Amino acid sequence: MQITKMNTQYDLDEHTVFVVNELVGAHALPIIDFLKDKEKISEFIIAEELGLEINETRNVLYKLLEHNIVMFLRKKDRIKGWYICYWDFNPTMVPHLKHKILVEKRAKLQDRLSAEEEGQYFICRNACSRMTFETAVEQNFKCSECGQIMQEQDNARTKEFLRERINELDKQVKAAEPKRKVALEAPVVVKAAPKVVKATAAKKKPAAKKRK
Ligand SMILES: [Zn+2]
Repeated sequence: MQITKMNTQYDLDEHTVFVVNELVGAHALPIIDFLKDKEKISEFIIAEELGLEINETRNVLYKLLEHNIVMFLRKKDRIKGWYICYWDFNPTMVPHLKHKILVEKRAKLQDRLSAEEEGQYFICRNACSRMTFETAVEQNFKCSECGQIMQEQDNARTKEFLRERINELDKQVKAAEPKRKVALEAPVVVKAAPKVVKATAAKKKPAAKKRK
């Protein structure tokens, strides 16, 4: 996908950029940027306007849909007889997704910190490997890469770094607490997933008819 625009070139708020980057990737930003002030835009228009292949466009839209960042409406084209999806950006999901991402990041860091606090780590002098005490014993305290003797690592700085990051995330999580309590498992989530499958299946039908 040829998207060279920087994040800052999109007229999107930082929360949206963060959520889209984290959950789908920067390549999805042009689509959100394009959809944001519009209503029910056909995927063909999106592809055409952004100079993307239709399949690429759909793949990104489905990824966005998995997180309910977009919503769609499927309509049968009366002339062509096939189904077209019309898409909308769903900004109400952004605060909830942001909060969820931060909570998950914090949990991961907490797990890492716990592992650092409980374990004893060994590191190669050439820094090619790092392992737990158990693995080091299995390898006779020799680096599997270069054969150097492994040394016990002082992980005080790692722990300190992780604690700082966790504190920082605590603040971010608090700040990102959504004002409106909408469950992430709102009906949109439940409905959205199976629809994607139907939409793809339905797209194939008219093509099959044509061949007859
Ligand atoms: Zn080594």
